[in-house]
Amino acid sequence: MSGLFSFHGGLKTVRHKTESNREAIRASVLPQRLTVPLRQHIGAIAKPLVQAGDRVLKGQMIGQPDGYISAAVHAPTSGVVKAVDQRPVPHPSGLPDWCVTIDSDGEERWIAREPVDYRRLHPSALRNLLRNAGVVGLGGAAFPSAVKLNLSGHCERLETLILNGAECEPWITCDDRIMRERAAEIVAGLHVMVHLLEPREVLIGIEDDKPEAIAAMTAACAGTGYAVRAVPTRYPSGSVKQLVRLLTGKETPVDSLPVDVGVQCFNVATAYTVHRAVECGEPVISRIVTIAGHVNQPRNIESLLGAPFAGLVAQCGGYRDGVERLIMGGPMMGFALHSDEVPVTKATNCVLAAGAAELAPEQPVMPCIRCGACVEVCPADLLPQQLYWHARAKEFDKAQDYHLFSCIECGCCSYVCPSRIPLVQYYRYAKNEIWAQEKEKQKAELARQRHQARQERLEREKQEREAKLRQKAPPRAEPNAEKPSIETAVARAKAAPAPSLATAAGTGQQTD
Ligand code: SF4
Ligand code: SF4
Repeated sequence: MSGLFSFHGGLKTVRHKTESNREAIRASVLPQRLTVPLRQHIGAIAKPLVQAGDRVLKGQMIGQPDGYISAAVHAPTSGVVKAVDQRPVPHPSGLPDWCVTIDSDGEERWIAREPVDYRRLHPSALRNLLRNAGVVGLGGAAFPSAVKLNLSGHCERLETLILNGAECEPWITCDDRIMRERAAEIVAGLHVMVHLLEPREVLIGIEDDKPEAIAAMTAACAGTGYAVRAVPTRYPSGSVKQLVRLLTGKETPVDSLPVDVGVQCFNVATAYTVHRAVECGEPVISRIVTIAGHVNQPRNIESLLGAPFAGLVAQCGGYRDGVERLIMGGPMMGFALHSDEVPVTKATNCVLAAGAAELAPEQPVMPCIRCGACVEVCPADLLPQQLYWHARAKEFDKAQDYHLFSCIECGCCSYVCPSRIPLVQYYRYAKNEIWAQEKEKQKAELARQRHQARQERLEREKQEREAKLRQKAPPRAEPNAEKPSIETAVARAKAAPAPSLATAAGTGQQTD
Protein backbone atom coordinates (compact mmCIF):
# COMPACT_ATOMS: atom_id res chain seq x y z
CA MET A 1 0.00 0.00 0.00
CA SER A 2 3.08 2.21 -0.11
CA GLY A 3 2.93 5.39 -2.10
CA LEU A 4 -0.84 5.71 -1.82
CA PHE A 5 -2.76 8.88 -1.14
CA SER A 6 -6.42 9.39 -0.23
CA PHE A 7 -9.37 11.31 -1.62
CA HIS A 8 -12.03 13.25 0.20
CA GLY A 9 -15.37 11.58 0.94
CA GLY A 10 -16.55 8.29 -0.46
CA LEU A 11 -18.34 5.38 1.17
CA LYS A 12 -17.99 1.83 2.35
CA THR A 13 -20.76 0.01 0.51
CA VAL A 14 -22.15 -3.49 1.06
CA ARG A 15 -20.32 -5.77 -1.40
CA HIS A 16 -21.98 -8.36 -3.61
CA LYS A 17 -18.95 -9.36 -5.66
CA THR A 18 -18.76 -13.03 -4.68
CA GLU A 19 -22.21 -13.72 -6.10
CA SER A 20 -20.98 -13.36 -9.69
CA ASN A 21 -17.16 -13.67 -9.59
CA ARG A 22 -16.73 -17.32 -8.64
CA GLU A 23 -17.18 -18.75 -12.11
CA ALA A 24 -15.04 -18.22 -15.23
CA ILE A 25 -16.31 -15.97 -18.03
CA ARG A 26 -18.73 -17.79 -20.34
CA ALA A 27 -19.22 -17.14 -24.04
CA SER A 28 -22.73 -16.00 -24.95
CA VAL A 29 -25.04 -18.11 -27.05
CA LEU A 30 -25.27 -16.72 -30.61
CA PRO A 31 -28.61 -14.91 -30.85
CA GLN A 32 -30.66 -15.24 -34.03
CA ARG A 33 -30.94 -11.45 -34.32
CA LEU A 34 -28.54 -8.68 -33.21
CA THR A 35 -29.45 -5.01 -32.96
CA VAL A 36 -26.26 -2.99 -33.15
CA PRO A 37 -26.56 0.69 -32.15
CA LEU A 38 -24.52 3.09 -34.30
CA ARG A 39 -23.98 5.28 -31.22
CA GLN A 40 -22.11 3.21 -28.65
CA HIS A 41 -19.56 5.84 -27.72
CA ILE A 42 -19.28 9.46 -26.67
CA GLY A 43 -19.14 11.75 -29.69
CA ALA A 44 -20.67 11.72 -33.16
CA ILE A 45 -22.80 8.75 -34.18
CA ALA A 46 -21.14 6.40 -36.70
CA LYS A 47 -22.33 6.74 -40.31
CA PRO A 48 -24.05 3.58 -41.59
CA LEU A 49 -22.18 1.76 -44.38
CA VAL A 50 -24.83 -0.90 -45.05
CA GLN A 51 -28.50 -1.11 -45.94
CA ALA A 52 -31.28 -3.66 -45.63
CA GLY A 53 -30.53 -6.79 -47.65
CA ASP A 54 -26.71 -6.50 -47.52
CA ARG A 55 -24.73 -9.57 -46.49
CA VAL A 56 -22.11 -8.88 -43.81
CA LEU A 57 -19.20 -10.80 -42.34
CA LYS A 58 -18.27 -11.01 -38.68
CA GLY A 59 -16.07 -8.04 -37.85
CA GLN A 60 -17.05 -6.06 -40.98
CA MET A 61 -17.34 -2.31 -40.41
CA ILE A 62 -21.03 -1.34 -40.63
CA GLY A 63 -20.71 2.20 -39.26
CA GLN A 64 -17.74 4.46 -39.92
CA PRO A 65 -16.46 7.10 -37.50
CA ASP A 66 -17.82 10.55 -38.26
CA GLY A 67 -15.43 13.24 -37.06
CA TYR A 68 -12.57 13.30 -34.58
CA ILE A 69 -14.54 12.18 -31.52
CA SER A 70 -16.26 9.11 -32.89
CA ALA A 71 -15.62 5.38 -33.32
CA ALA A 72 -16.45 2.65 -35.80
CA VAL A 73 -19.12 -0.02 -35.30
CA HIS A 74 -18.84 -3.60 -36.65
CA ALA A 75 -21.02 -6.58 -37.39
CA PRO A 76 -20.78 -8.96 -34.39
CA THR A 77 -21.54 -11.98 -36.57
CA SER A 78 -22.08 -12.89 -40.22
CA GLY A 79 -25.55 -12.65 -41.71
CA VAL A 80 -27.96 -10.35 -43.52
CA VAL A 81 -28.84 -6.78 -42.63
CA LYS A 82 -32.53 -6.73 -41.81
CA ALA A 83 -32.94 -2.99 -41.27
CA VAL A 84 -31.16 0.29 -40.58
CA ASP A 85 -33.63 2.23 -38.47
CA GLN A 86 -34.39 3.56 -35.02
CA ARG A 87 -34.81 0.95 -32.27
CA PRO A 88 -34.94 0.96 -28.46
CA VAL A 89 -31.46 1.23 -26.93
CA PRO A 90 -30.20 1.20 -23.34
CA HIS A 91 -30.30 4.89 -22.43
CA PRO A 92 -31.76 6.73 -19.41
CA SER A 93 -34.06 8.71 -21.73
CA GLY A 94 -35.71 5.55 -23.08
CA LEU A 95 -35.57 7.14 -26.54
CA PRO A 96 -34.79 4.98 -29.60
CA ASP A 97 -31.64 5.48 -31.65
CA TRP A 98 -30.22 4.40 -35.03
CA CYS A 99 -29.29 0.74 -35.19
CA VAL A 100 -28.27 -1.88 -37.74
CA THR A 101 -30.29 -5.07 -37.23
CA ILE A 102 -28.58 -8.24 -38.46
CA ASP A 103 -30.11 -11.68 -38.83
CA SER A 104 -27.37 -14.21 -38.12
CA ASP A 105 -26.64 -16.93 -40.70
CA GLY A 106 -25.17 -19.05 -37.90
CA GLU A 107 -21.86 -19.44 -39.74
CA GLU A 108 -19.76 -16.87 -37.86
CA ARG A 109 -17.68 -16.13 -40.98
CA TRP A 110 -14.98 -13.57 -40.19
CA ILE A 111 -13.49 -10.83 -42.34
CA ALA A 112 -9.78 -11.27 -43.11
CA ARG A 113 -8.04 -10.48 -39.82
CA GLU A 114 -4.67 -8.77 -40.21
CA PRO A 115 -2.48 -8.39 -37.13
CA VAL A 116 0.11 -5.61 -37.31
CA ASP A 117 3.45 -4.91 -35.66
CA TYR A 118 2.57 -1.68 -33.86
CA ARG A 119 6.25 -0.73 -33.42
CA ARG A 120 6.48 -0.25 -37.19
CA LEU A 121 3.41 1.94 -37.49
CA HIS A 122 3.43 5.72 -37.35
CA PRO A 123 1.58 6.85 -34.17
CA SER A 124 -1.21 8.51 -36.18
CA ALA A 125 -1.69 5.33 -38.26
CA LEU A 126 -1.83 3.27 -35.07
CA ARG A 127 -4.43 5.61 -33.54
CA ASN A 128 -6.42 5.43 -36.75
CA LEU A 129 -6.31 1.63 -36.62
CA LEU A 130 -7.79 1.74 -33.09
CA ARG A 131 -10.45 4.23 -34.14
CA ASN A 132 -11.46 2.03 -37.07
CA ALA A 133 -11.46 -1.01 -34.77
CA GLY A 134 -14.06 0.76 -32.59
CA VAL A 135 -11.89 0.83 -29.45
CA VAL A 136 -13.54 2.93 -26.73
CA GLY A 137 -13.37 3.02 -22.94
CA LEU A 138 -15.09 -0.10 -21.59
CA GLY A 139 -15.32 1.12 -18.00
CA GLY A 140 -18.72 2.58 -18.81
CA ALA A 141 -17.86 5.98 -20.29
CA ALA A 142 -17.19 4.69 -23.84
CA PHE A 143 -14.94 7.60 -24.80
CA PRO A 144 -12.99 6.92 -28.04
CA SER A 145 -9.54 5.67 -26.98
CA ALA A 146 -7.71 6.99 -30.05
CA VAL A 147 -8.46 10.54 -28.85
CA LYS A 148 -7.06 9.81 -25.37
CA LEU A 149 -3.95 8.26 -26.92
CA ASN A 150 -3.06 11.61 -28.49
CA LEU A 151 -1.47 14.06 -26.07
CA SER A 152 -1.27 17.04 -28.38
CA GLY A 153 -2.82 20.13 -26.87
CA HIS A 154 -2.72 18.73 -23.33
CA CYS A 155 0.81 18.05 -22.15
CA GLU A 156 4.20 17.53 -23.75
CA ARG A 157 5.22 14.51 -21.74
CA LEU A 158 2.94 12.12 -19.87
CA GLU A 159 4.04 11.51 -16.30
CA THR A 160 1.79 8.60 -15.43
CA LEU A 161 -0.29 6.10 -17.35
CA ILE A 162 -2.88 4.43 -15.11
CA LEU A 163 -4.71 1.22 -15.83
CA ASN A 164 -7.97 1.21 -13.91
CA GLY A 165 -8.91 -2.15 -12.38
CA ALA A 166 -10.50 -0.67 -9.26
CA GLU A 167 -14.08 -1.67 -10.16
CA CYS A 168 -15.68 -0.07 -7.11
CA GLU A 169 -19.41 -0.55 -7.89
CA PRO A 170 -20.65 -3.13 -5.37
CA TRP A 171 -22.14 -5.67 -7.83
CA ILE A 172 -19.87 -5.51 -10.89
CA THR A 173 -17.14 -8.13 -11.40
CA CYS A 174 -16.39 -8.13 -15.15
CA ASP A 175 -13.02 -6.38 -14.67
CA ASP A 176 -12.15 -8.72 -11.82
CA ARG A 177 -12.72 -11.76 -14.05
CA ILE A 178 -10.90 -10.36 -17.09
CA MET A 179 -7.84 -9.54 -14.95
CA ARG A 180 -7.82 -13.04 -13.45
CA GLU A 181 -8.25 -14.80 -16.80
CA ARG A 182 -6.62 -12.56 -19.42
CA ALA A 183 -3.91 -10.64 -17.58
CA ALA A 184 -1.23 -11.33 -20.24
CA GLU A 185 -3.45 -9.91 -23.02
CA ILE A 186 -4.25 -6.84 -20.91
CA VAL A 187 -0.53 -6.21 -20.41
CA ALA A 188 0.04 -6.73 -24.16
CA GLY A 189 -2.53 -3.96 -24.84
CA LEU A 190 -0.83 -1.82 -22.21
CA HIS A 191 2.47 -2.15 -24.14
CA VAL A 192 0.72 -0.58 -27.18
CA MET A 193 -0.54 2.31 -25.06
CA VAL A 194 2.91 2.83 -23.56
CA HIS A 195 4.38 2.83 -27.09
CA LEU A 196 2.02 5.68 -28.05
CA LEU A 197 2.13 7.75 -24.87
CA GLU A 198 5.69 7.14 -23.58
CA PRO A 199 4.81 7.77 -19.91
CA ARG A 200 7.47 8.04 -17.23
CA GLU A 201 5.64 5.46 -15.09
CA VAL A 202 2.80 2.96 -15.40
CA LEU A 203 0.54 2.19 -12.45
CA ILE A 204 -2.25 -0.37 -12.25
CA GLY A 205 -4.84 0.36 -9.55
CA ILE A 206 -6.96 -2.53 -8.24
CA GLU A 207 -9.21 -2.48 -5.15
CA ASP A 208 -7.86 -4.73 -2.41
CA ASP A 209 -11.00 -6.92 -2.40
CA LYS A 210 -9.68 -8.64 -5.58
CA PRO A 211 -6.61 -10.60 -4.42
CA GLU A 212 -6.74 -13.06 -7.35
CA ALA A 213 -6.79 -10.25 -9.89
CA ILE A 214 -3.93 -8.48 -8.10
CA ALA A 215 -1.89 -11.70 -8.16
CA ALA A 216 -2.60 -12.37 -11.85
CA MET A 217 -1.76 -8.83 -12.93
CA THR A 218 1.39 -8.75 -10.77
CA ALA A 219 2.60 -11.97 -12.42
CA ALA A 220 1.81 -10.66 -15.92
CA CYS A 221 3.67 -7.40 -15.23
CA ALA A 222 6.85 -9.13 -14.01
CA GLY A 223 9.89 -7.61 -15.70
CA THR A 224 7.95 -4.80 -17.36
CA GLY A 225 8.48 -2.04 -14.80
CA TYR A 226 4.71 -1.58 -14.48
CA ALA A 227 3.58 -1.35 -10.84
CA VAL A 228 0.41 -2.99 -9.55
CA ARG A 229 -1.06 -1.08 -6.58
CA ALA A 230 -3.79 -2.41 -4.31
CA VAL A 231 -6.03 0.52 -3.36
CA PRO A 232 -8.44 0.50 -0.40
CA THR A 233 -11.93 -0.73 -1.15
CA ARG A 234 -13.82 2.51 -0.92
CA TYR A 235 -16.47 3.73 -3.34
CA PRO A 236 -15.84 5.54 -5.79
CA SER A 237 -12.13 4.70 -6.02
CA GLY A 238 -12.68 3.59 -9.63
CA SER A 239 -13.80 7.08 -10.68
CA VAL A 240 -10.99 8.54 -12.74
CA LYS A 241 -10.15 11.67 -10.74
CA GLN A 242 -10.36 9.75 -7.47
CA LEU A 243 -8.05 6.98 -8.74
CA VAL A 244 -5.58 9.57 -10.05
CA ARG A 245 -5.60 11.17 -6.60
CA LEU A 246 -5.19 7.81 -4.85
CA LEU A 247 -2.25 6.68 -6.95
CA THR A 248 -0.39 9.92 -7.64
CA GLY A 249 -1.60 12.43 -5.05
CA LYS A 250 -2.46 14.81 -7.90
CA GLU A 251 -5.67 16.83 -7.82
CA THR A 252 -7.33 17.29 -11.17
CA PRO A 253 -8.71 20.84 -11.09
CA VAL A 254 -12.41 21.47 -11.61
CA ASP A 255 -13.28 21.61 -15.33
CA SER A 256 -9.94 19.93 -16.25
CA LEU A 257 -8.95 16.44 -17.30
CA PRO A 258 -6.33 14.22 -15.66
CA VAL A 259 -4.21 14.54 -18.80
CA ASP A 260 -3.94 18.27 -18.02
CA VAL A 261 -1.96 17.30 -14.90
CA GLY A 262 0.10 14.74 -16.81
CA VAL A 263 -1.92 11.57 -16.14
CA GLN A 264 -3.94 9.43 -18.54
CA CYS A 265 -6.21 6.59 -17.43
CA PHE A 266 -7.72 3.57 -19.22
CA ASN A 267 -9.87 0.68 -18.09
CA VAL A 268 -8.28 -2.80 -18.01
CA ALA A 269 -10.86 -4.18 -20.48
CA THR A 270 -9.99 -1.36 -22.89
CA ALA A 271 -6.33 -2.45 -22.84
CA TYR A 272 -7.51 -5.98 -23.68
CA THR A 273 -9.42 -4.72 -26.77
CA VAL A 274 -6.37 -2.67 -27.84
CA HIS A 275 -4.38 -5.91 -27.88
CA ARG A 276 -7.11 -7.77 -29.86
CA ALA A 277 -7.36 -4.93 -32.40
CA VAL A 278 -3.62 -4.57 -33.01
CA GLU A 279 -2.19 -8.04 -32.54
CA CYS A 280 -5.16 -10.15 -33.63
CA GLY A 281 -6.77 -7.80 -36.20
CA GLU A 282 -10.14 -8.06 -34.42
CA PRO A 283 -12.40 -5.04 -33.94
CA VAL A 284 -14.55 -4.61 -30.82
CA ILE A 285 -17.60 -6.84 -31.35
CA SER A 286 -18.07 -8.20 -27.83
CA ARG A 287 -17.55 -7.30 -24.21
CA ILE A 288 -17.79 -8.97 -20.80
CA VAL A 289 -20.99 -8.23 -18.90
CA THR A 290 -21.82 -9.05 -15.27
CA ILE A 291 -25.35 -10.40 -14.85
CA ALA A 292 -26.22 -10.02 -11.18
CA GLY A 293 -29.01 -9.63 -8.64
CA HIS A 294 -32.21 -11.61 -8.84
CA VAL A 295 -31.14 -14.15 -11.46
CA ASN A 296 -30.67 -17.85 -10.78
CA GLN A 297 -26.94 -18.08 -11.66
CA PRO A 298 -25.22 -14.69 -11.49
CA ARG A 299 -22.08 -14.75 -13.63
CA ASN A 300 -19.99 -12.96 -16.27
CA ILE A 301 -20.73 -13.53 -19.92
CA GLU A 302 -18.73 -12.44 -22.95
CA SER A 303 -21.62 -11.08 -24.98
CA LEU A 304 -21.72 -10.04 -28.61
CA LEU A 305 -22.61 -6.36 -28.94
CA GLY A 306 -26.20 -6.06 -30.07
CA ALA A 307 -27.38 -9.17 -28.20
CA PRO A 308 -30.57 -8.58 -26.18
CA PHE A 309 -30.24 -8.43 -22.38
CA ALA A 310 -33.05 -10.99 -22.09
CA GLY A 311 -30.83 -13.65 -23.75
CA LEU A 312 -28.04 -13.05 -21.21
CA VAL A 313 -30.51 -13.34 -18.33
CA ALA A 314 -31.76 -16.62 -19.85
CA GLN A 315 -28.14 -17.87 -19.89
CA CYS A 316 -28.07 -17.18 -16.16
CA GLY A 317 -31.07 -19.40 -15.51
CA GLY A 318 -33.66 -16.62 -15.80
CA TYR A 319 -35.03 -14.20 -13.22
CA ARG A 320 -35.73 -15.11 -9.62
CA ASP A 321 -38.88 -13.84 -7.96
CA GLY A 322 -38.93 -10.30 -6.66
CA VAL A 323 -37.29 -8.34 -9.49
CA GLU A 324 -38.38 -4.74 -9.06
CA ARG A 325 -36.19 -3.02 -11.63
CA LEU A 326 -33.59 -3.78 -14.29
CA ILE A 327 -30.53 -1.55 -14.02
CA MET A 328 -27.65 -1.11 -16.46
CA GLY A 329 -24.43 -0.50 -14.51
CA GLY A 330 -24.36 -0.68 -10.73
CA PRO A 331 -26.96 0.56 -8.27
CA MET A 332 -24.85 3.65 -7.50
CA MET A 333 -24.18 5.05 -10.99
CA GLY A 334 -26.41 2.94 -13.22
CA PHE A 335 -29.83 3.73 -14.66
CA ALA A 336 -33.13 1.89 -14.92
CA LEU A 337 -34.03 0.18 -18.19
CA HIS A 338 -37.46 0.20 -19.76
CA SER A 339 -37.15 -3.29 -21.23
CA ASP A 340 -34.83 -6.32 -21.31
CA GLU A 341 -35.06 -6.45 -25.10
CA VAL A 342 -32.54 -3.60 -25.49
CA PRO A 343 -29.10 -4.60 -26.83
CA VAL A 344 -25.72 -4.88 -25.13
CA THR A 345 -23.44 -1.98 -26.10
CA LYS A 346 -19.79 -1.14 -25.41
CA ALA A 347 -20.93 0.71 -22.26
CA THR A 348 -22.80 -2.27 -20.78
CA ASN A 349 -20.63 -3.51 -17.92
CA CYS A 350 -23.47 -4.90 -15.80
CA VAL A 351 -27.14 -5.86 -15.94
CA LEU A 352 -28.54 -5.86 -12.42
CA ALA A 353 -31.95 -7.41 -11.78
CA ALA A 354 -32.61 -5.45 -8.63
CA GLY A 355 -35.06 -6.52 -5.94
CA ALA A 356 -36.46 -4.39 -3.15
CA ALA A 357 -33.36 -5.03 -1.00
CA GLU A 358 -31.04 -3.53 -3.64
CA LEU A 359 -33.12 -0.41 -4.06
CA ALA A 360 -33.45 2.41 -1.57
CA PRO A 361 -36.77 1.91 0.24
CA GLU A 362 -39.51 4.19 -1.01
CA GLN A 363 -39.83 6.86 1.66
CA PRO A 364 -41.33 10.30 1.55
CA VAL A 365 -38.83 13.00 0.67
CA MET A 366 -38.32 15.38 3.59
CA PRO A 367 -36.97 18.93 3.55
CA CYS A 368 -33.22 19.44 3.65
CA ILE A 369 -32.14 19.87 7.29
CA ARG A 370 -28.71 21.24 6.35
CA CYS A 371 -26.97 18.43 8.21
CA GLY A 372 -23.97 18.51 5.88
CA ALA A 373 -23.75 14.71 5.54
CA CYS A 374 -23.70 15.05 1.74
CA VAL A 375 -20.71 17.41 1.90
CA GLU A 376 -18.81 14.92 4.04
CA VAL A 377 -19.06 12.14 1.46
CA CYS A 378 -18.79 14.08 -1.81
CA PRO A 379 -15.58 12.83 -3.48
CA ALA A 380 -15.63 15.77 -5.90
CA ASP A 381 -15.41 18.29 -3.03
CA LEU A 382 -18.69 19.92 -4.01
CA LEU A 383 -21.51 21.37 -1.93
CA PRO A 384 -24.31 18.96 -2.87
CA GLN A 385 -27.03 20.73 -0.90
CA GLN A 386 -26.26 24.05 -2.67
CA LEU A 387 -26.42 22.28 -6.01
CA TYR A 388 -29.75 20.80 -4.97
CA TRP A 389 -31.21 24.20 -3.96
CA HIS A 390 -30.22 25.82 -7.22
CA ALA A 391 -31.26 22.87 -9.40
CA ARG A 392 -34.64 22.74 -7.66
CA ALA A 393 -35.13 26.50 -8.09
CA LYS A 394 -34.07 26.22 -11.76
CA GLU A 395 -31.23 28.65 -11.03
CA PHE A 396 -28.98 26.89 -13.47
CA ASP A 397 -26.36 29.66 -13.66
CA LYS A 398 -25.87 29.45 -9.92
CA ALA A 399 -25.70 25.64 -10.08
CA GLN A 400 -22.89 26.04 -12.59
CA ASP A 401 -21.18 28.51 -10.29
CA TYR A 402 -21.13 25.64 -7.77
CA HIS A 403 -19.48 23.39 -10.41
CA LEU A 404 -22.47 21.27 -11.31
CA PHE A 405 -20.53 19.72 -14.19
CA SER A 406 -17.82 18.46 -11.85
CA CYS A 407 -20.39 16.20 -10.23
CA ILE A 408 -19.58 12.62 -11.27
CA GLU A 409 -23.08 11.43 -10.31
CA CYS A 410 -21.58 8.88 -7.93
CA GLY A 411 -24.68 8.93 -5.73
CA CYS A 412 -22.78 9.14 -2.43
CA CYS A 413 -24.76 12.22 -1.38
CA SER A 414 -28.16 10.63 -2.09
CA TYR A 415 -27.01 7.47 -0.29
CA VAL A 416 -26.39 9.27 3.00
CA CYS A 417 -29.05 11.97 2.86
CA PRO A 418 -31.32 11.49 5.93
CA SER A 419 -34.10 13.39 4.19
CA ARG A 420 -34.11 10.85 1.31
CA ILE A 421 -33.78 13.61 -1.28
CA PRO A 422 -33.00 12.10 -4.70
CA LEU A 423 -30.14 14.56 -5.12
CA VAL A 424 -28.54 12.99 -8.21
CA GLN A 425 -31.83 13.13 -10.08
CA TYR A 426 -31.87 16.90 -9.50
CA TYR A 427 -28.31 17.21 -10.84
CA ARG A 428 -29.14 15.16 -13.93
CA TYR A 429 -32.24 17.25 -14.50
CA ALA A 430 -30.23 20.49 -14.20
CA LYS A 431 -27.51 19.22 -16.56
CA ASN A 432 -30.10 18.13 -19.13
CA GLU A 433 -31.85 21.51 -18.91
CA ILE A 434 -28.56 23.36 -19.40
CA TRP A 435 -27.66 21.18 -22.40
CA ALA A 436 -31.14 21.73 -23.87
CA GLN A 437 -30.82 25.50 -23.40
CA GLU A 438 -27.37 25.42 -25.00
CA LYS A 439 -28.78 23.55 -27.98
CA GLU A 440 -31.62 26.07 -28.29
CA LYS A 441 -29.10 28.92 -28.17
CA GLN A 442 -27.00 27.25 -30.86
CA LYS A 443 -30.10 26.72 -33.00
CA ALA A 444 -31.18 30.36 -32.58
CA GLU A 445 -27.65 31.54 -33.46
CA LEU A 446 -27.64 29.30 -36.54
CA ALA A 447 -31.05 30.66 -37.61
CA ARG A 448 -29.79 34.24 -37.14
CA GLN A 449 -26.67 33.54 -39.21
CA ARG A 450 -28.76 31.94 -41.97
CA HIS A 451 -31.17 34.90 -42.04
CA GLN A 452 -28.29 37.36 -42.22
CA ALA A 453 -26.62 35.37 -45.02
CA ARG A 454 -29.91 35.35 -46.98
CA GLN A 455 -30.37 39.11 -46.60
CA GLU A 456 -26.81 39.68 -47.80
CA ARG A 457 -27.35 37.38 -50.79
CA LEU A 458 -30.60 39.16 -51.78
CA GLU A 459 -28.91 42.55 -51.55
CA ARG A 460 -25.95 41.30 -53.62
CA GLU A 461 -28.26 39.89 -56.32
CA LYS A 462 -30.23 43.14 -56.45
CA GLN A 463 -27.06 45.14 -56.97
CA GLU A 464 -25.87 42.75 -59.69
CA ARG A 465 -29.23 43.05 -61.54
CA GLU A 466 -29.07 46.84 -61.41
CA ALA A 467 -25.50 46.81 -62.69
CA LYS A 468 -26.53 44.64 -65.67
CA LEU A 469 -29.47 46.92 -66.49
CA ARG A 470 -27.21 49.93 -66.48
CA GLN A 471 -24.87 48.20 -68.94
CA LYS A 472 -27.74 47.39 -71.40
CA ALA A 473 -29.50 50.83 -71.41
CA PRO A 474 -28.56 53.36 -74.31
CA PRO A 475 -26.57 56.35 -73.22
CA ARG A 476 -28.90 59.08 -72.03
CA ALA A 477 -28.73 62.65 -73.30
CA GLU A 478 -26.94 64.89 -71.03
CA PRO A 479 -29.50 66.93 -69.14
CA ASN A 480 -27.74 70.15 -70.14
CA ALA A 481 -27.27 69.24 -73.82
CA GLU A 482 -28.57 71.88 -76.19
CA LYS A 483 -32.13 71.18 -77.48
CA PRO A 484 -32.71 71.48 -81.26
CA SER A 485 -34.41 74.72 -82.22
CA ILE A 486 -37.95 74.72 -83.70
CA GLU A 487 -36.54 75.80 -87.06
CA THR A 488 -34.14 72.84 -87.12
CA ALA A 489 -36.94 70.38 -86.25
CA VAL A 490 -39.22 71.75 -89.03
CA ALA A 491 -36.39 71.54 -91.58
CA ARG A 492 -35.72 67.88 -90.54
CA ALA A 493 -39.45 67.00 -90.95
CA LYS A 494 -39.61 68.55 -94.43
CA ALA A 495 -36.54 66.67 -95.54
CA ALA A 496 -38.00 63.29 -94.46
CA PRO A 497 -39.96 61.25 -97.15
CA ALA A 498 -43.83 61.28 -96.84
CA PRO A 499 -45.31 57.96 -95.52
CA SER A 500 -47.16 55.79 -98.12
CA LEU A 501 -50.82 54.81 -97.62
CA ALA A 502 -49.79 51.20 -97.07
CA THR A 503 -47.40 52.21 -94.40
CA ALA A 504 -50.04 54.36 -92.73
CA ALA A 505 -52.70 51.56 -92.87
CA GLY A 506 -50.20 48.97 -91.62
CA THR A 507 -49.51 50.97 -88.56
CA GLY A 508 -53.25 51.42 -87.99
CA GLN A 509 -52.94 55.15 -88.08
CA GLN A 510 -55.95 57.20 -89.25
CA THR A 511 -55.55 59.42 -92.28
CA ASP A 512 -57.63 62.51 -92.81
S1 SF4 B 1 -27.56 15.32 3.35
FE1 SF4 B 1 -29.60 15.86 2.66
S2 SF4 B 1 -30.50 16.90 4.40
FE2 SF4 B 1 -28.31 16.83 4.79
S3 SF4 B 1 -27.54 18.80 3.93
FE3 SF4 B 1 -27.36 17.27 2.33
S4 SF4 B 1 -29.26 17.51 1.14
FE4 SF4 B 1 -29.61 18.48 3.12
S1 SF4 C 1 -23.34 12.76 -6.90
FE1 SF4 C 1 -22.16 14.58 -7.33
S2 SF4 C 1 -22.63 15.98 -5.66
FE2 SF4 C 1 -23.26 13.92 -5.01
S3 SF4 C 1 -21.53 13.11 -3.92
FE3 SF4 C 1 -21.29 12.42 -6.03
S4 SF4 C 1 -20.05 14.01 -7.01
FE4 SF4 C 1 -20.79 14.86 -5.07
